[in-house]
Amino acid sequence: MRAEIVMIGTELLLGEIVDTNANLLAVALRDIGIDLYYKTTVGDNEERIAEVLNLALDRSDAVITSGGIGPTVDDVTRQAIARATGRKLIYSEELERQIAARFRNFGRKMAANNKRQAYLPEGALPLENPVGTAPCFLSEDTGGRGFIVCLPGVPRELAHMTEYTVVPLLVERMGGVKVIRVRVLRTCAVGESNIDRGIGDLMTSSNPTVGLAAHAGQTDARIAARAGSEADAEAMIAGMEAELRSRLGVAVYGVDKETVAEVVGGLLSKRDLKLGVVDTLTGGQLSRELNEAGFESVIASDLYGSHADQAVVDACDGLQQDGDERTLAGILAEQVAPEGGVGLAMIGPLAGRSTAIAVRGPGDLKTIEVGRRFEDSDLVRRWTVMLGLDRVRRAVLGVLESPVDWN
Ligand code: ATP
Ligand code: MG
Repeated sequence: MRAEIVMIGTELLLGEIVDTNANLLAVALRDIGIDLYYKTTVGDNEERIAEVLNLALDRSDAVITSGGIGPTVDDVTRQAIARATGRKLIYSEELERQIAARFRNFGRKMAANNKRQAYLPEGALPLENPVGTAPCFLSEDTGGRGFIVCLPGVPRELAHMTEYTVVPLLVERMGGVKVIRVRVLRTCAVGESNIDRGIGDLMTSSNPTVGLAAHAGQTDARIAARAGSEADAEAMIAGMEAELRSRLGVAVYGVDKETVAEVVGGLLSKRDLKLGVVDTLTGGQLSRELNEAGFESVIASDLYGSHADQAVVDACDGLQQDGDERTLAGILAEQVAPEGGVGLAMIGPLAGRSTAIAVRGPGDLKTIEVGRRFEDSDLVRRWTVMLGLDRVRRAVLGVLESPVDWN
């Protein structure tokens, strides 16, 4: 089924309010596997709303409108829908009684202009709106092009109607998709473009679908399957998940709501490993996240501020090293690694050179890498936290490379 959403309201069009309704509707449609091809925003003008709705009916099966069904003269969505679907607006005494009753329930008196809300396109199916007073409805096009579902603009009402009325209605009209299953595979420390290079071809699959969402240092691959039964949907997810995992390897750190810090903390605890950290890059954020995720065995020497470089250099002075960032990071990781545990050093940029991340342990394992340009911004700090956590994770798992790493 192809759907399209039409957002109505001059304030919305002119950017005076943010369109959260469109977002909510789009996610709800995606979750039940309906293709959304267009979203249009139009002001409170009957002529232009009708024009947009006509175009929408030409190219989509289901059109959903939001807004413009209040009692005031500028609420003209009802009229526009009647025009677009080729129907007269007719008065319903029954509807007026319902509106009046709802006002009484809310302890208010119905005003004369609320009578406007008792007019619906002829033959429309009224949809009960238990959280507001404006009646919602579904109107079929007389020309057989599809139907329009009319919803309120008030976000709370729209959210309620979407969840309890519109989604079940659309699912039923699609011939009863019974279950939708979703699994999110979470990756970290690999750029979105690399993930895309690895699995981009799978994103054209229509059921299950695969989509990407990128955050700083993290990319989520979302798999959604629709099927007649839970077992079938699960099987479809499992098949796609196996394919994604084989292509992404260790870049996948977890599923659904898991955070990298939880996963890393969990891995270390399970193996009874302590973690020593020297960190001049993230302002203590990496250790904090591990702590917040419930991992207490982190011994942190977080050095930051303008003395950080010097502190790192001083720390190595006794060792009479040449100050090369790789060497320093390697030495520091070794220094902070607790007996039998893991050491992580994230340092730099030293004297304008790059950053370096080194991990020592568990056992004899040693990895050192030189980072790229570093700047003190939230985005880079976030990426650095992800990189540090990820390198510890890979070291503990003993799998250092994924098929989609940089270069
Ligand atoms: P009312 O009975 O309040 O007039 P309505 O169905 O006519 O309801 P609108 O007048 O279009 O809806 O919007 C009511 C309020 O809801 C707006 O003032 C605005 O604050 C909010 N709103 C409307 N549309 C949206 C939207 N797309 N996203 C977020 N908020 C919205
Ligand atoms: Mg209004």
